Amino acid sequence: MTPNGTSMEISQTVEDYLKAIFEESNPPTLASTTAIAERMGVTLASVTSMLKKLAAKTPALVDYRKHHGAKLTPEGTLLALKIIRRHRLLELFLHDVLAFEWDEVHEEADRLEHVISDAFVQRIAIALDDPDWDPHGHPIPSVDLEMPQENTIQLYDLKSGENGVVRWVSDRDPSLLRHLTELGIALGTRLEVRSFSSLDENHTVRLLETGEEVVLGAGITRQIGIQKLD
Ligand SMILES: [Zn+2]
Repeated sequence: MTPNGTSMEISQTVEDYLKAIFEESNPPTLASTTAIAERMGVTLASVTSMLKKLAAKTPALVDYRKHHGAKLTPEGTLLALKIIRRHRLLELFLHDVLAFEWDEVHEEADRLEHVISDAFVQRIAIALDDPDWDPHGHPIPSVDLEMPQENTIQLYDLKSGENGVVRWVSDRDPSLLRHLTELGIALGTRLEVRSFSSLDENHTVRLLETGEEVVLGAGITRQIGIQKLD
């Protein structure tokens, strides 16, 4: 048995790959080798060699298509959901109980998720009353590894005159999270798109609570998830 309670020998690197493939694939689109390499901070050659290894395991954890990318098999998906549950529960625990800021929890959770026991994960879930969302608004898979669903679009796709509420923010770049905090943008912030410039892909957005207007580039608006309001 590994510390994760799985019968298969799964290394920390494999766990990180499964998580990356899960997060980079958008069924039916495969996770591209390039996107996985960028997310993992490794070369294309290492990704290709790892994808081949994961595809050769019994049972196979990924379905690898040369030149196209990879997707998780049902077994790979369950392992990915399990590690994502750990990661997001840890983030919420660090944030809600230990008072870490939302830009600090991702890195801590990335380390801790590989070493805590299943019992520890379950205690966190109980202590937090089986939560559905992490501090960045991402869904936390349930104990049965079901993912809560919510209909959101990228802020980038919200059109001029449309209103929405911020439901998730990418947790990969702490400086983005700090920047949003400075601008007054958090989960639950309601906003209206005033204008969009196709020249530089900037959105001018009015924050409905304060009336303040901010200009956000595509590098930011693609990292924010919005639930449209009528
Ligand atoms: Zn995270």
